Amino acid sequence: MADYDYEQMLADHLRSMAEMQAAPFPSAPMLYGEQPRRCPVCRRWARDLSNRRLNTMYVEDASNWMLSCSGCYEMAYRNYADQWAEYWMMVM
Ligand SMILES: [Zn+2]
Repeated sequence: MADYDYEQMLADHLRSMAEMQAAPFPSAPMLYGEQPRRCPVCRRWARDLSNRRLNTMYVEDASNWMLSCSGCYEMAYRNYADQWAEYWMMVM
């Protein structure tokens, strides 16, 4: 964590913010077909379970992915976006 390039991170952050605002909500290919399955996060039955990339920057890339229904994913995604906004407010 000590050797982050903050200028590069800021540039990446601003670019991804612009991309997020420009692009429709990110979607991922369906991995589990149309059969309803339980979302591991909210435990509800869902037809849209998928493993999606989150807006996190964990070094271990597996931690940047979330298997869930689209509702849980959207909530997590927005939550992380808020945390990034707070983080950059404090850093800058
Ligand atoms: Zn869910």
